[in-house]
Amino acid sequence: MIKAVSLFSGGLDSILATKIIMDQGIEVIAVNFIHPFANNKKMKEKQNYARSMSQKMGIELVEIELKENFLNILQNPKYDFGKNLNPCIDCKILMITQAYQVMKEKKASFLVTGEVLSQRPKSQFLWGLNIIDRDSHLKGFILRPLSAKLLQETIPEQKGWVNRDKLFNFSGRIRGPQFDLAQKMGITDYPAPAGGCLLTDPIFARRVHDLLIHNELTMENIELLKLGRYFRLTSQFKLIVGRNEKDNSALFNHAKPKDYIFTPSHSKGPTGLGLGVIDSSTEQLASGIIAYYSSPDVEPLYIKIQHQSFPSPKMVQPIPLSLDQIEKYRIENFPIQFTRQNTQKTPQK
Ligand code: SF4
Repeated sequence: MIKAVSLFSGGLDSILATKIIMDQGIEVIAVNFIHPFANNKKMKEKQNYARSMSQKMGIELVEIELKENFLNILQNPKYDFGKNLNPCIDCKILMITQAYQVMKEKKASFLVTGEVLSQRPKSQFLWGLNIIDRDSHLKGFILRPLSAKLLQETIPEQKGWVNRDKLFNFSGRIRGPQFDLAQKMGITDYPAPAGGCLLTDPIFARRVHDLLIHNELTMENIELLKLGRYFRLTSQFKLIVGRNEKDNSALFNHAKPKDYIFTPSHSKGPTGLGLGVIDSSTEQLASGIIAYYSSPDVEPLYIKIQHQSFPSPKMVQPIPLSLDQIEKYRIENFPIQFTRQNTQKTPQK
């Protein structure tokens, strides 16, 4: 029996693509990627959905976590970023090459994706798809059932494993044809089309940009980006300020001995996690930011700073700061600028 490996995000397009191929009598193994920049809530929903849907469809599901291999491409994507900090073409090439490993292990003959021609800029434009095929070295072995009739015939079609007449010619952002097809196939239970990749979020992208330009891109720092308000006080020091109790306890629990913890003394207010090298003026500034978000129960307000090098917590009386002064240090207010040499603004076809 011919086998195929399908990139299975749990979204409707990937379900349809998988089902179209299964309906042609081909055994499909689904591959689901867990992405370091997935919005945790949406990622869990989609992941759970991929699990339950693969069970319902009676197919094997292989989960692959992208980690440092994704961070490597984010540091210098060959095909640049999308609208924000999303290196989609490079990301797709990475996913396809990872799925190819599964294809080899499972002795499958080709790959299936739910991509729709021109549904998204760059990575789903024709030249983007061609680059993905070429750079993954799988030209002819990647079948996109939803748009296949608009694309060059692939090897599974040429060899007669897949009947091209039963494939589709969907293109663009309109989702109606997919919804109609889902109804015809009896697929009624699928997640709402929604992003979930934080690199496409302009606010979050600026946080990631800060890590990139300060050479701080690690899996651990990425998880921290999902918490609190972010301030870059100097090139060597940043402060994360909790927005609520959940953030505060997560920041407190995350602190390593080398990190600084800022809390208002005898007052309600946020926890601040300070990372990097600090001097006395930066201590004042960080304390001022914590004070701004605190509600003093006693006057004057002191900010307590804890660090392994202090024999006992240090008490700092902060100089009051205005919102305008604070906003100057907010990472989200810094523009994204790159001067990488290796990035091609216009992908080569
Ligand atoms: S949106 Fe994010 S996960 Fe999707 S292809 Fe682009 S970089 Fe990858």
